[in-house]
Amino acid sequence: MKKIPAVCVIGSLNMDLTMTTKKMPKQGETVIGEHFETYPGGKGANQAVAAARLGANVTMIGAVGTDAFGDSLLKSLSQEGINVEGISKISDVATGVASIIMSDHDNRIIVASGANAFVTPELVEQYHEQIRDSDIVLVQLETPLEAIVRTIEIANEHSIPVIVNPAPFQELPEAILTGSTFLTPNEIELEAMKQETISNSIREKIILTKGADGVQFFENGRSKDVKSYQVKVADTTGAGDTFNGALATQLGSGFPLTDAVHYANAAAALSVTKLGAQGGMPTNVEVKQFII
Ligand code: ADP
Repeated sequence: MKKIPAVCVIGSLNMDLTMTTKKMPKQGETVIGEHFETYPGGKGANQAVAAARLGANVTMIGAVGTDAFGDSLLKSLSQEGINVEGISKISDVATGVASIIMSDHDNRIIVASGANAFVTPELVEQYHEQIRDSDIVLVQLETPLEAIVRTIEIANEHSIPVIVNPAPFQELPEAILTGSTFLTPNEIELEAMKQETISNSIREKIILTKGADGVQFFENGRSKDVKSYQVKVADTTGAGDTFNGALATQLGSGFPLTDAVHYANAAAALSVTKLGAQGGMPTNVEVKQFII
């Protein structure tokens, strides 16, 4: 690594409550399932963990409730070496949770945003210094858009590059389109972006992740394709989060865009070979060994 990058992630923290069942319950039905596990998640936290495993100094800005899930999420991020001083504890509000029901052929997920909805422009403003002092800022769309807009304004004020991962997709305000340095949709999110209304200058910011088909991005105005690595897939959950955390780490270290995209493509490929979102995220050493 050229230098240890300071990556500031503003985003969501959720506790994923995962149940597996042979039979999905019908309306009004109760079934006895199989396993229950809790996993730390949320796109913000996932991307923060990806960057930290790959060697970045990560500061996370977000919010949890004053409940056991919140404490547990803070602990797991701290154990990854992430600075959690920017994560507020909001009283009388539940920590974000995702209730995930999985059967062989079907997944059903409900997210209750809880404290993530309390990531406001004012809350972000409290951490102006952390944003100013970072090499790169990384955001997703699981926290309120106004807070993301404020984050981008602060980053722009200090000429700090911003990666916006537009997931899960929402209509992007002009301030996000123009103020971001890079946009990293997957194919479904790009489809939703009403491409015909996107100007060329915005289009050239797009780094499109295409799952097993790799990545497409622009270099000096020309579109480039990067093939994905051929790997044995165990679980693709968190591939995009690993890609974004890796991209931020490499760009924050000062690597050129092409090198950063290739590295992120490798890190994300490694992540799909293991189970779980955060569970599958590789270290820098693992990515380096994989690339050779
Ligand atoms: P998301 O997880 O956000 O839907 P993608 O599915 O586009 O994002 O995956 C992000 C990146 O992860 C891809 O661009 C690629 O680098 C890597 N990736 C995803 N699926 C595979 C796969 N089956 N084989 C190799 N790499 C993959």
